[in-house]
Amino acid sequence: VGTSAAPPHRYADALEPLLAVVGADLRAPLVGGDEVRYANLDYAASAPSLAAVADHLTDVLPFYASVHRGAGYASQISTSLYENARGTVRRFVRARPDDAVVFTRNTTDSLNLLAGCVPAGSEVLYLDIEHHANLLPWQARPHRSVVAAPSLAETLERVRISLSDGGVGLLAVTGASNVTGEVLPIAELAAIAHEHGARIVVDAAQLAPHRRIDMAAAGTSGEIDYLAFSGHKLYAPFGSGVLVGRADWLDAGTPHLAGGGAVREVRLDAVTWADGPARHEAGSPNVLGAATLARAAEVLGSLDEAAWQRHEQQLRAALLEGLAEIDGVTVHRLFDDSKEAIGVVNFSVAGHDAGLVAACLSAEHGVGLRDGRFCAHPLLKRLGLPSGSLRASFGVGSRLEDVERLVAGVRGLVEDGL
Ligand code: PLP
Repeated sequence: VGTSAAPPHRYADALEPLLAVVGADLRAPLVGGDEVRYANLDYAASAPSLAAVADHLTDVLPFYASVHRGAGYASQISTSLYENARGTVRRFVRARPDDAVVFTRNTTDSLNLLAGCVPAGSEVLYLDIEHHANLLPWQARPHRSVVAAPSLAETLERVRISLSDGGVGLLAVTGASNVTGEVLPIAELAAIAHEHGARIVVDAAQLAPHRRIDMAAAGTSGEIDYLAFSGHKLYAPFGSGVLVGRADWLDAGTPHLAGGGAVREVRLDAVTWADGPARHEAGSPNVLGAATLARAAEVLGSLDEAAWQRHEQQLRAALLEGLAEIDGVTVHRLFDDSKEAIGVVNFSVAGHDAGLVAACLSAEHGVGLRDGRFCAHPLLKRLGLPSGSLRASFGVGSRLEDVERLVAGVRGLVEDGL
């Protein structure tokens, strides 16, 4: 035992509970018959459940019952699980007390829901860097788009100019790029939107699993009006998502689904819709999805933030350093002046098809990463990558060894060929 005041691996102790993700010791078969611990570098697509989330699912499963409608014991428990989950989500994103928390299927669903609530006559403004989920719902209604500049500073200026033409009611922007991981300056964008009388919705599908979000922070001008994210990227199972935000638009908007639970009174040829989250949550809701999403939020909210960030940044730095030493590898980024990024790295290998590289890394090294256009076709086209690139992404359960195996695999295929 050393006597130094700061043991070198102290942060690892704080991270130990984080490393407990489901599937952390999954074995992957390799060509030739061997197998190896699966190096999951595809967290940005869907992060593995936290062990604490899986335990919670097992605990609450016996109380599985219809919510809001039953007087029975299980129904009461189920109802309180579901309603308490709203409070947990509210605390996780530090929403305002009067914000609505609506449970949905995922981020895509949340943004489509909001698209039905933007007041008539208001345009929606979005950037060309967005995931299709934060682009297509707006295309179906009055909208305008801005092509991002090579610098964030110039991009913000372009947004400002577009907003100053008037007519925009909502600025839709991602919190962190699902393609490159770069974090957008949300407080500044919110302030610009608000200066021009618009609201802001942040697609936090990628940001929420990596950063603490404070919807109500930064004074009135920096506040986030609406926020959307998905359970399956937040270390919870598929099928649940959330839209949090200002209740007035949501209470006046088109109900997301028509059906039971979303109404106050139904006549044979007319209906009075409910206010509040119920207005958009018709049908039997995904109680287990909401409960597990909330449990994941609770665990992430309780992390030692410094250790969490240091862990992800160390992996990112190791990956960037390793890739920089390999001839023909280009790392892609959106902005030459962005300062922050989450655990997502995008790259290409000159002369090698991205799909083949990904297949080789999987078959020969047990490394799982993503190739393709990442549901961001306009962006990939503008970046000069019309046939796609590669994306490695990681989070709390990832290990340095996973990143090292990826780097060694890429080096091997560049030196020895596919
Ligand atoms: N927004 C971003 C930035 C994403 O990365 C994704 C998924 O990859 C989505 C939205 C859509 O998420 P979901 O498929 O959970 O609706």
